[in-house]
Amino acid sequence: MQNFGFIGFGIMGSAMAKNLVAAGFGVTVWNRTPEKTDELVALGARRAATAREVVASCPITFGMLADPAAAEEVCFGRNGVLEGIGEGRGYVDMSTVDPGTSQRIGVAVVARGGRFLEAPVSGSRKPAEDGTLIILAAGDRTLYDEALPSFERMGKKILFLGDVGRGAEMKLVVNMVMGGMMAIFCEGLALGEKAGLARADILDVLGAGAIANPMFALKGGAIAQGSYAPAFPLKHMQKDLRLAVGLGDHLAQPLAAAATANELFKRARAAGFGDEDFAALFKTVTA
Ligand code: NAP
Repeated sequence: MQNFGFIGFGIMGSAMAKNLVAAGFGVTVWNRTPEKTDELVALGARRAATAREVVASCPITFGMLADPAAAEEVCFGRNGVLEGIGEGRGYVDMSTVDPGTSQRIGVAVVARGGRFLEAPVSGSRKPAEDGTLIILAAGDRTLYDEALPSFERMGKKILFLGDVGRGAEMKLVVNMVMGGMMAIFCEGLALGEKAGLARADILDVLGAGAIANPMFALKGGAIAQGSYAPAFPLKHMQKDLRLAVGLGDHLAQPLAAAATANELFKRARAAGFGDEDFAALFKTVTA
């Protein structure tokens, strides 16, 4: 059985690494806040003292970190990935970052003799737990092939998209659409309710027609209950919109709706909802 390293035990990393352990792979783990790896260690994972130690002791290591700043700190920082990488070792960054960040990390890993793959994922807490994520990989093809048995435990659809950057771009497109959908969904609910319509009726009608989708069904239920325990933290949704708008700037692609959605999510962060689920945008729209 293969051995893998895993760095980053937030909502997603914890669930994804658990599936690797359950599949019988050897897993070596590190998280900035060490207690978050306790459950995995109890299940049989080996705890390392640093990210460097994880990478140095495993042929392939996965990273699942909050944002570009976290991904860069774990890669370039003291006792980080670069200090442990060596000839032939692989680093697979599954965090959602911009293509430039991913390319900087990739170039640095390769310069030290390592191999690099970006592999951001689509799907939230539940698909991570169920092993049904959509994995958007790009970079070193040999590393992709070697990592595939682990991807198959974490995801239901796995794509190889080409050079480093393509995975990040695909991920930002998907989440930009999702953030825009959430913004207009919240505004639709707010408008309907202000007009006197029942929330349950609005959800029922939206769910019956051509714009029905799993996200409206799931998040509509959460909004109806006022339940915003984070599956996808709002601060990460805003980060993804910011990165998508930045990509639009870079490519001179107008993104009027995404930029507006980004402003709404920024307002929700400023209101203190960053650590709640991104459906908490509704509270800002109705404030
Ligand atoms: P999360 O729960 O906020 O976890 C973030 C992880 O990053 C934690 O392990 C955290 O360590 C670590 N981290 C943050 N800053 C760090 C730093 N400076 N140095 C070292 N480690 C640092 O996030 P998540 O929901 O698991 O998401 C992880 C990534 O996947 C994000 O890029 C997100 O956009 C993406 N994603 C999330 C979802 C979702 O539904 N949740 C879905 C698809 C993609 P500590 O434990 O020490 O804070």
